[in-house]
Order: sequence, then C-alpha cells, then structure tokens
Amino acid sequence: MQKRAGIVIAIDGVSGSGKSTLAKGLAARLGFVYLDTGAMYRAVTWKVLTDGIGVHDESRVVAAARRLSLTVAPGDAGMKVFVDGADVSEEIRRPYVSDNVSVVAAYGGVRERMVGLQREIAADHNIVLEGRDVGTVVFPNADLKFFIDASVDERAKRRLAELQAKGIATSLEDVRKNIEERDRIDSGRQVSPLRKAPDALAIDSTGMTIDEKTDKALAIARERLRL
Ligand code: C5P
Repeated sequence: MQKRAGIVIAIDGVSGSGKSTLAKGLAARLGFVYLDTGAMYRAVTWKVLTDGIGVHDESRVVAAARRLSLTVAPGDAGMKVFVDGADVSEEIRRPYVSDNVSVVAAYGGVRERMVGLQREIAADHNIVLEGRDVGTVVFPNADLKFFIDASVDERAKRRLAELQAKGIATSLEDVRKNIEERDRIDSGRQVSPLRKAPDALAIDSTGMTIDEKTDKALAIARERLRL
C-alpha cells in the first residue's frame, strides 16, 4: 500500500462506547478532519427502509447502496450526512435505523461501496475516522489505532441520555437490547467483523469522563505522532 500524505488515526470499538465523542474531540483538538463511518452505514439503512426495501433482501440492499448519492460535511455536532442532497443526520439516529443497521452493514457489497467512499473522503487529509473496521480494513496502515470498550451498562445509559437529549423516546431496556444485538451481529459477521487490530491501543472507557478519555488519547497521539 502506498504511503499517504496525511495522518490517519483509526478509532474502532463496540456500540455506544463513546468513540464518536472521543473521535470528534480528538479531531477538533488536533485540527484534523472527522469521519463517522457508522453514520454512512446508517444512511444506507435509512435509504433502504425509506424505499421500502426489505433489509434481508441482500441483492436489492446492495444495489441501493451502489446507487446511493451519499455526501458528508462538517457540522456543529460533528458530521452531517446527506442522501440525495437531503440532510438525514438526525433521522439516522432513530431506533428504527439502529435496529436494522447491523443487518445492512454485514453485506459485503454494501461494505465495498462504503469503504471505497471512506478512502475517497479521507484522501490525503489528516483525519480521525471512527467505526468498526477502520484499523483492520479501511486503513490497516493507519498511523495510530485505538480500540474503545466500556461496560454494557454504561454504554446503554450513555446512549439513552443521548437519545433523550434529542427528544427520541425509548427505554433503557430497549437501548441495551439494541447495543447487545449490534455487538453480536457486528462481531459475528463474515465480512470485516468487529475486531481489535493487533496494533491498536485498547482503552476501556468505563468510569472515564469525556475529557479524561480525550486527554488520554490526545497525549498518546501527540507522543506517538510527534504532533
Ligand atoms: O457507530 P454506529 O453505532 O453509529 O454504527 C452503526 C452500525 O454501523 C454498527 O452497529 C455497525 O453495524 C455498522 N458499522 C460497521 N462498520 C463501521 C461502522 C459502523 O459495520 N466501520
């Protein structure tokens, strides 16, 4: 693989581990671009559901992913996602998307298109990407890799608070079930399963505040990358 001109920081981890907040904070502090790859799988899922395609119909889902016009742009709350020019950034966080995204993301044809787009978007920028396969598949030669974990209880509580802040009605039990189900599908799938890359630094963020996590990752990044 050719050496890139920009620096890549890859952050992977389980659902609701706080990796988005960490990745966003790290990118802001370093002046890097931020890319939320999960939002891209959510956008495909939103499109599939909106068009009335069954998520288990692999060939139609993959065809939809291949045709999709998907763009991203920096936003106040991180990253904005557009499908066919429409801003779907809020809609893709809703439970009906969360409940279906791992099925859609397990298809090789969907992943192929998304990974291609992710590499295009990253181009030669200094960038922090977060997801499930960034350090293993999208950028196996990333300059720095983190793998974020946290207890299921804490992840469910954190995700519930985020959804409630957005006015989305759900319960702790439903959020917890969704997180466990997505962990199960994401780790068990054939194509690009969720794994810690051997050279990724593991951070268990249970009990850590956002600032503590960001400061820790920032200190490591500055030391390792001499920034
Ligand atoms: O990061 P987030 O929880 O929004 O991701 C939503 C879903 O997208 C994950 O549960 C996973 O199924 C899928 N995903 C993926 N590969 C990535 C990022 C997300 O399969 N790199």
